[in-house]
Amino acid sequence: MKEVKCTIIQDLLPLYVDDVVSEDTKEMVGRHLKTCQACQKDYEQMKETLYVPIENNVTLFEKLNKKWNHKKMKLIGGSVVMTILLCLAVFSYVFHYQNPIPYSKDLFEIEEKEDGSLVSNYFGESHAGSYITHPMKVEIDGKIKFVSLVYYVETIANSPTSNFFREDKRIGPEQFTLPDSNIVDAVYYGEFDLEKVIATKEQTWNELLQDMTLIWER
Ligand SMILES: [Zn+2]
Repeated sequence: MKEVKCTIIQDLLPLYVDDVVSEDTKEMVGRHLKTCQACQKDYEQMKETLYVPIENNVTLFEKLNKKWNHKKMKLIGGSVVMTILLCLAVFSYVFHYQNPIPYSKDLFEIEEKEDGSLVSNYFGESHAGSYITHPMKVEIDGKIKFVSLVYYVETIANSPTSNFFREDKRIGPEQFTLPDSNIVDAVYYGEFDLEKVIATKEQTWNELLQDMTLIWER
């Protein structure tokens, strides 16, 4: 049997992960993966990253968010990535004025509850949303860790419509529980672009995390 080139396998991997290839192709790719460590590694990575959902906690657009969450449940495989991209586009439009809030110890705090879940507290004013991911399996210094990424954004705070959107008075800090946080090993704060890591592979996880701040570790 002639050896199949890795580049061909790489082209086929996304389809293989989605299980939309013919039996023959499946067999061929499967055989290659058994003998090729490089492709096997890519395959494992793809299998995981394709199923990573992103969650968006948005105070002002909760309805939109709920709709989206509902939709998310029905998604599988590659379509998740497509939907993430689509939703990112929608949200970046909605948050035309959005402005990531830089990390500061006084403003943000991750709090561990007795049941092991994590709550993110924000003590600042006039923020309209936060971006948060489900725990993601990432290799850090040779160890597999589950990390959650988070950042808060100030949105229409400075726009003419700000008074319309701004909540009257907030009691205590703004809080939310991180999704599936009892398995989280570390929380990083900072702007993140999963598209770069997952879809385009322009960036590695380590590069991304280097630009972020480790704000909590189990
Ligand atoms: Zn290969």
